[in-house]
Amino acid sequence: MKTWRGIPREEIPWYPTIDPGVCTGCRTCVDFCKNDVLEFDEAAGKSRVNNPYNCIVECSTCAKLCPDGAIRFPDEATFSAFIKERIARQAAKR
Ligand code: SF4
Ligand code: SF4
Repeated sequence: MKTWRGIPREEIPWYPTIDPGVCTGCRTCVDFCKNDVLEFDEAAGKSRVNNPYNCIVECSTCAKLCPDGAIRFPDEATFSAFIKERIARQAAKR
């Protein structure tokens, strides 16, 4: 199982979400990311998230590159609080 800082990757809510109503199908995100997180839905003419847990924790480059602002990530403060709490919980178990 893949982990990040000792936490199972699939328990970490860090991955992109794409608003299909905003995505214009430019493919910038799919062409950029080499981690097989995103794929292009040819029928819809838009990108979508295929393997969310392949996303590198704390990377948000695709959102920065998206010309339409269609890609969102969790709020940084909420995410930091989540990670701190999980790391503290793991330390308490040891
Ligand atoms: S945040 Fe980084 S790793 Fe995650 S999907 Fe976007 S470019 Fe890929
Ligand atoms: S970069 Fe943005 S607009 Fe372009 S395909 Fe990806 S989500 Fe859609």
